[in-house]
Formats: sequence, C-alpha cells, structure tokens
Amino acid sequence: MRILVTGAAGFLGSHLSRYLLNKGHSVAGIDNFITGSIDNINDLFKNGKFEFLKYDVTNYLHVPGRLDAVLHFASPASPIDYLKYPIPTLKVGALGTHKALGLAKDKKAIFMIASTSEVYGDPLVNPQHEKYWGNVNPVGPRGVYDEAKRFAEAMTMAYHRYHRMPVRIARIFNTYGPNMRLEDGRAVPNFMVQALKNKPITVYGTGEQTRSLCYVSDLIDGIYRLLNYDINEPVNLGNPHEITLLELAGLVKAAAKSRSKIVFKPLPEDDPKVRRPDITLAKTLLKWRPKVDLEEGLRKTVAYFKSRV
Ligand code: UDP
Repeated sequence: MRILVTGAAGFLGSHLSRYLLNKGHSVAGIDNFITGSIDNINDLFKNGKFEFLKYDVTNYLHVPGRLDAVLHFASPASPIDYLKYPIPTLKVGALGTHKALGLAKDKKAIFMIASTSEVYGDPLVNPQHEKYWGNVNPVGPRGVYDEAKRFAEAMTMAYHRYHRMPVRIARIFNTYGPNMRLEDGRAVPNFMVQALKNKPITVYGTGEQTRSLCYVSDLIDGIYRLLNYDINEPVNLGNPHEITLLELAGLVKAAAKSRSKIVFKPLPEDDPKVRRPDITLAKTLLKWRPKVDLEEGLRKTVAYFKSRV
C-alpha cells in the first residue's frame, strides 16, 4: 500500500511510519514540526519508499499519485502543548481532519483518525468502553483537544455515512516510549528526565489519580490490526493495567535507579481522576492485546531518555 501519515515526525507518527515501511509499504509523511522532530525520522530517509513533506495539514492537501490509506496522526497531544498551541490544536483536529478526509475520499483510500481517550473527558465510568459518551468540559483548558477530537470523530462518521467511505477511529489511551520529547510535559517524559537528573519528581495533586499506560510498540501493532479490519466505529486501544500516578513515579524512579525525591504540585484544571480502557472490542475483533508490561516498557524508555538527558 502507499500510505499517507500526517504527524509523521511526532511520537506515534514516527513509530507508525517505521512500522509500515518495515511491512513493505510506501509511506508519504507530512509534519509541520510544531511538536514533531526531524530526529524521530532521520533514519527513514534512507528508505526509498519514504517520502516527506514539511506542511501544515490544516491547509488544502494535494498529494500526487495513488494513496491506499490516509492516517491522520497530526496533533499536539500533551496538556502543556494544548495550552501553548490552543488554536493549532483545534485546527488540526477540525480543519486538518476535514482536509485529510477530503484527500482520502478523492483517492478512494481508507481513512484513519488518531482519536483519544480524552473524548471520555473526566469519565464517570471506569473502565471506559466505546459506548460511553464521556464527560467533557468544552470551555476548559483541555477542551481544545477533547472537542477537536470529538469533532474529528463526528466528521469521520459523517464521511463514512454520507460518502460511504471506509474509516477507522482509534481511541488511543496513554502511550509512552522512545521518541517522546524530553520537554513534552506528560507524566512519563517528565518523570524520566527528573529521575535521570536526580531532581524532584513532580506528582500533580495527591497522585491518587490513575492512568493506564501502553508501550508504543503494542499500540502501533493495534493500529495496524485496526487499519486492516473492517470496522468503522471507534475502537479503544490501550493497556488496561491501571495504576496511580504516585505508583508510576515510584516505578520510574526504580527503573532509572534514581535518588530523586517525590514532590507534590497543584493538580491541573480538569485533570481526569481515572482512566482505563475497556479493550474487549479490540481483543475480540483484532485479536490484539498489549504484550509489554510496565516494568519492561519503562526499562526500554529509560534507555532512550538516558541517551538524551
Ligand atoms: N502528571 C504529574 N506530574 C507531571 C506530569 C503529569 O503528576 O509532571 C499527572 C497529570 O496531572 C495526570 C497524569 O500525570 O494526572 C497524566 O498526565 P499526562 O500529561 O501524562 O497525560 P493525560 O493523561 O493527563 O493526558
């Protein structure tokens, strides 16, 4: 297949592009580098099946030649980035999704949107299954991301229903691993950098809030299975192993063999109290389940951060 990946230089986009090339597909990558980095894809340029364009996908997209799939993975994805780039976050989820859908329609390609567990907001049910509609504050600081992704899902389903396009909606839960920026601001990269520098590890709030963390190779395997399975409705992808942030801080500290102290900072506004995917659908349909446990994933991630701090 010839596959377009938006956000190809980002955390997930770069792993996805490498995975697709390894499977023998051709990849056309697009990124505007507002949160992506050329370092994530430097090695891909050696592959003759990789093309790259520096471009902002919120503008009209013209891609010559055949395309079999359009995977829209471009977006800031860290809460501190939504605060820094609120309008680009809204635009890439809304206008960027529209442009990418239009391109997929024109090419008769499968369209996939990288959606998010943030569509569930601060959830009132745990674990979250695909039928749950969520609890989102549209006007809070996270609203720019949550609502853009909810719009993106609505737009994707409208193209599916109205234009009969094949679409995939991946609801991606917290994912971690190499290629996250050191200054990304999310819990894993923050804790990694702090632990490796023996600086205080900043736990927000009491640290009793929970997340469920998926190692990136598992997530990408799930994405590929979803792309190749004929389901147009949303599918959760994530690791259901739920832990508190305080536990995560301790695990990162141990993995990094760090002497850091754990300190508490104010909880950001609208920070979800719990998050855990119900992955029954992915398990049943895609025969997918995460394989890398947290200790192993954190060890691999420490090795990456160690080479960079
Ligand atoms: N968090 C934390 N310390 C940090 C960064 C994040 O305690 O230095 C917390 C944050 O408040 C949230 C959880 O870690 O409860 C996960 O945050 P992240 O930014 O990784 O992603 P989110 O799941 O909130 O989108």
